[in-house]
Amino acid sequence: MLPQRKEARAGLIGFGIQRSLTPAMHMREGRAHGLAYSYELIDLHERKKTPDDLEALIAEVEAREFCGLNITYPCKQLVLPLLTEVSDDARRLRAVNTVVLRDGKRIGHNTDWSGFAEGLRRQLPDADLTSVVQIGAGGAGAATAFAVLKMGTSKLTIFDIDANRSVELAGEMARLFPEAEVMAGRYLENAMAEASGLVHATPMGMDKHPGLPLPAELLNPPLWVADVVYFPLETALLQAARRRGCRVANGGGMAVFQAVGAFGLFTGLVPDAQRMLAHFAELTGTDEIALARLA
Ligand code: NAD
Repeated sequence: MLPQRKEARAGLIGFGIQRSLTPAMHMREGRAHGLAYSYELIDLHERKKTPDDLEALIAEVEAREFCGLNITYPCKQLVLPLLTEVSDDARRLRAVNTVVLRDGKRIGHNTDWSGFAEGLRRQLPDADLTSVVQIGAGGAGAATAFAVLKMGTSKLTIFDIDANRSVELAGEMARLFPEAEVMAGRYLENAMAEASGLVHATPMGMDKHPGLPLPAELLNPPLWVADVVYFPLETALLQAARRRGCRVANGGGMAVFQAVGAFGLFTGLVPDAQRMLAHFAELTGTDEIALARLA
């Protein structure tokens, strides 16, 4: 007879999530801890559901005794009123990507911002965070802006092709971090001339959105460049930045460390971040040099 193993179930709710690597990362780590761990994709598109069905979907997985849920686009804010408790950071950020389900409680957290912060810290440990330009003011952009401000950025200038979004995010961050200068940018060239680092948080660079989010001539050392895109890991932006002599951080850090954080919260176990990184590298075909930067 097989030794009895502890079971755990978790999942990800979102729209169009079929390519997510999060289930594989969670399940492999669960197995390494001796857990019979299943992690399901609950794809709103596949299941012909809408964000209005979120509450029913959460109730369904609670009935199935899930220990947790990751939440992604377009539900990270919609989930807030459905929770019994929300961590301080997630409440301030007004976005939840991780919900712990325990004893009838639904406790919301945000491991996106902490995942990005950890990825940046590991890949660019001595990055000068004084003055950061960020392009992209959507879901990922809210987490990265929060992260760099938590890490001590004193000037953050946010750009987005939708000016309303950059103004709104800058306003929210300025309220949360009154000690920093946070603004929506108007002239990218001027802002880049003064920046110590660039955070990129738009879909540009993904297969469906090829190209650069800004002219390569604006990338000049000692500027560092951090990308959130991780399909592919080596984006055109990072290639251009490296060619011009800038140090770079890829989106793999955020992808792995949001999962490391969520795994710990769901299971109460201490995940082996190194092992999860190695697994992510295997899943993405990342070469050892890129992995070493993350490790
Ligand atoms: P989103 O749609 O919420 O936001 C994207 C924002 O970028 C929008 O505000 C849009 O107006 C803006 N934008 C698009 N093209 C632009 C351009 N050329 N210049 C300026 N602004 C532009 O999307 P999101 O959820 O924030 O995701 C953005 C990217 O981040 C995606 O590629 C996603 O895969 C990636 N992501 C990565 C991780 C990770 O773990 N590494 C996590 C979340 C998202």
